[in-house]
Amino acid sequence: MIHTGYTLENMEPIVSLAKRRGFVFQGSEIYGGFGNSWDYGPLGVLMENNVKAAWWRAMVQLRDDMVGLDAAILMSPQVWQASGHVGHFTDPLVDCTTCKLRYRADHAEQTPCGNPEWRKQGLTAATCPGVKTEARQFNMMFKTFVGPLEESAAVAYLRPETAQGIFVNFANILGTSRKKLPFGIAQIGKSFRNEITPGNFIFRTREFEQMEMEYFITPGTEREWHPYWGDQRVNWYKHLGVRDENIRIRDLPPEDLAHYSKGTKEIEYLWPGGLGWAELEGVASRGDYDLGRHQEASGRDMTFFDEEKKERYLPYVIEPAVGVGRATLVFLLDAYDEEPDKEGTRVVLRLHPAIAPIKVAVLPLSKKEPLGGLARTVAASLRPHMMIQFDDTQAIGRRYRRQDEIGTPLCVTVDFESIEDRAVTIRERDSMAQERVPIAELLPRLHEKLGM
Ligand code: ATP
Repeated sequence: MIHTGYTLENMEPIVSLAKRRGFVFQGSEIYGGFGNSWDYGPLGVLMENNVKAAWWRAMVQLRDDMVGLDAAILMSPQVWQASGHVGHFTDPLVDCTTCKLRYRADHAEQTPCGNPEWRKQGLTAATCPGVKTEARQFNMMFKTFVGPLEESAAVAYLRPETAQGIFVNFANILGTSRKKLPFGIAQIGKSFRNEITPGNFIFRTREFEQMEMEYFITPGTEREWHPYWGDQRVNWYKHLGVRDENIRIRDLPPEDLAHYSKGTKEIEYLWPGGLGWAELEGVASRGDYDLGRHQEASGRDMTFFDEEKKERYLPYVIEPAVGVGRATLVFLLDAYDEEPDKEGTRVVLRLHPAIAPIKVAVLPLSKKEPLGGLARTVAASLRPHMMIQFDDTQAIGRRYRRQDEIGTPLCVTVDFESIEDRAVTIRERDSMAQERVPIAELLPRLHEKLGM
């Protein structure tokens, strides 16, 4: 991969490219938007699916010690009682009565002041002289009602994390998969949090998808497995194009730990704009907290019988957890590049081929027959194997630029000679190098170049 070191100062170029090219639209936009919700458009959904597939491949497919799960979003309210979310899944909420700003107490330093004049002077919620209320704890779980009557007996929660679906299925999976410790259960799915201050594009939203894995281990081995999973996860980002200088991992101080955590490593990314270093992914050491709580509350046995040690115990857990949107955003940010060219500026998304929404664009030099027909035949032969785009409008230079901007790694140009020599030209996004290839050898050559 080519890394130019081009760094965005703020997210604006990515937000506008995402909208202009159909990656991400504001949710309910025709009604003025809704609560920092976002809709993934035609290219966004492809990219998001690729991010999830790359995670699943690394976490499940390529490993012998992993199985998958897709649990329900709506779970028994007893799950959230037992897990501690009803009691502890809270954020400290503060109101500035002068500026009419509501914010999270622990985000005061990063939250711009609510008064436009003071904001211009660089004041934040922490430094503004406004009068603030005491922080009060606000539970972030969305409530809903199951059944036709809005009575308290029917209250249910939209899950705020996917992890609990894994814990409550631990005994089922142990009994059916014949796995031995250490092994993991991976899951991708929607989570919901009634965030006080959502924002920064898709960084913090109230509805988001999570990729979470619970790795069950013998107590005492967390000192080995916690750093192992930290390294695995950092390497995954780097392999898919996140630059070394923009990612780091650090141990959270004890006062910042969640209620279930025995220790958390935070994988942080250097976000553009005011955000700076902030969480991309958490790698938590959860001990036997969750299995223990569910065993106690449900009365079901959650222990594992260790054949070697001839003893039963509750496994400990290491949990890497990330939002699909946050991961997608870092891949977009680190891929974004601008370079001078004869028409001014070439905007290129240098996305890793595994996550690029379109792998190959097929571009005939002319719409006319027999060229158009040949190009359509080439496109049809590639379509079952990868996501392609066929584009026969406007000048070829414009079409290359359009593909560069959405991160398409390769273009295949069908020209007038193609009719005679049955060959086409492959053009690379990053180097713009071109190579002539017989149509009969096109597919394997594309696979080779894409590393598929
Ligand atoms: P933060 O401190 O940013 O609120 P958190 O520590 O509450 O995050 P976790 O509970 O550890 O987050 O969730 C695991 C991952 O899920 C986060 O690292 C992040 O990638 C993602 N995530 C959490 N909350 C949100 C959200 N509101 N919007 C988008 N992604 C989120």
